[in-house]
Amino acid sequence: MASNTKVFLIGAGPGDPGLFTLKGKECMQDAEVIIYDYLANRRLLEYANPDAELIFVGKKGFTAHVTQEEINAIIVEKAKQDGVSKVARLKGGDPFVFGRGGEEALALAAEGIAFEVVPGVTSGVAAPAYAGIPVTHRKVASSMALITGHEDPTKDESAIDWKHLAHGIDTLCFYMGIKSLHLITAKLIENGKPADTPVALVRWGTTPAQEVLVSNLGEVAEEARKVSFQAPAIIVVGNVVALREQIAWFEKDKPLLGQKIVVTRSRTQAGALSKVLEDKGAEVFEFPTIKIVDPDSFEVLDDAIADLGSYSWAIFTSVNGVEGFFSRLGLTGKDSRSLGGVKVAAIGPATADKVREYGIVADIVPGEYKAEGVLEALEGAGVKAGDKVLLARATEAREVLPEGLAAAGVEVTVASVYKTVVENENAVDDLVERLQGAMIDTITFASSSTVSNFMAILAGKVGEQEALRLMAQTTVASIGPITTDTARKLGLDVKIEAQEYTIAGLVRALVDDLRGTTL
Ligand code: SAH
Repeated sequence: MASNTKVFLIGAGPGDPGLFTLKGKECMQDAEVIIYDYLANRRLLEYANPDAELIFVGKKGFTAHVTQEEINAIIVEKAKQDGVSKVARLKGGDPFVFGRGGEEALALAAEGIAFEVVPGVTSGVAAPAYAGIPVTHRKVASSMALITGHEDPTKDESAIDWKHLAHGIDTLCFYMGIKSLHLITAKLIENGKPADTPVALVRWGTTPAQEVLVSNLGEVAEEARKVSFQAPAIIVVGNVVALREQIAWFEKDKPLLGQKIVVTRSRTQAGALSKVLEDKGAEVFEFPTIKIVDPDSFEVLDDAIADLGSYSWAIFTSVNGVEGFFSRLGLTGKDSRSLGGVKVAAIGPATADKVREYGIVADIVPGEYKAEGVLEALEGAGVKAGDKVLLARATEAREVLPEGLAAAGVEVTVASVYKTVVENENAVDDLVERLQGAMIDTITFASSSTVSNFMAILAGKVGEQEALRLMAQTTVASIGPITTDTARKLGLDVKIEAQEYTIAGLVRALVDDLRGTTL
């Protein structure tokens, strides 16, 4: 172990990434290992060094799928690992408030490992604040308590002094209490807290998924049951809850509140759209970008390039395919003239434009992106049995086109010219799960290439039919007619199209659609 190794127990804050501390961010930036929980906002991982090892130690719900002892062991092991000088342990809210950060600190102390604690904004204060509930108020509440709601209040020896809580403290904030809500409320009433004391449940406070239910001690359990109110939530009990009526601010000017929107990012486009959507209250899921890399082997392509004269057609299906082909051609010392006797098909106008950059005017430009349409166009252009056709495309492309050509007696050479790799596979799985669970309202596309990439990735994951089915149950929003056109050709039903072809225009169209003022 490097003698100066240090572990930072960092509070990730309650959810809103803006509530993360500057010190926490600094620690994240140069940690070699980051160990994080379910409640720590994944966005914060963007601060991590790209080479850092990221270890997830929590799963949905609060039944730890990794036990606390195992987590302690992982932290200790990582701190002792060669080459590691900084370990960031990122925990939701504040690490010492029901975060078991105390236990982790003790484990480190026992091992003689140096550590620092970086407090975070705790959800018991922040979630009420975002719900417009000040946990103290000079005239309404002079004291507050943070209480675990996880304890079974029926067990004989409760560590919670219910009598004192019911009488001596003005505002009660229960963590982890949704499952035991009826027991908690019963216990308070039994100990003399009036049944009409206001209660608020704040779920996913400070995030765009925030939900608030306001009731009173006597009725809240039943009301929560009726709407099956879920964790994670803070239960706030006390007269301060009534102030929400005047103070509620978070829901104001948030026309997209509660909307679950997918932003499909292109390589160059930063999170600009995500930011605006979030400001308007939407819950944004960013679909990861893809990278274009070399195929596993250029063998087929190289053989074809060596023998280009024997082909009667070359088919390009994408801009990337054109670029890949010509760059490989150039490497062998050849240029466009090698295609002199070869007819060229470019699928879609963007592909045709790209071929033109290399001095070639495509003989046909089938506008239809789906392989079936392309087949027809090729046949119409005179491609026939016995012809030798080179199909230059992505490794992972669909088989419909080559199979169709082969069935027509055409001799097809399928040459991989590039491969797309998804930057974050987990994020794709996550999104597919959300789409399948109908947990997405809208998918936005801000360019033609993002539509094609998105559909290629989705179809690659679940098959084309399922991809189209999933898309059909989601609202598709496009930035303008060209993107819409691409989407429609891919079989998507575009419901929302921006009138002004900018990010702001797209956001406006989403808001207008929700208000029912367009279409
Ligand atoms: N250390 C954390 C608490 C961890 S215990 C903190 O300081 O906030 C987990 C509980 O925290 C959840 O059951 C829930 O009651 C609460 N919680 C965490 N994040 C929350 C959020 N964004 N909104 C409401 N409750 C939250």
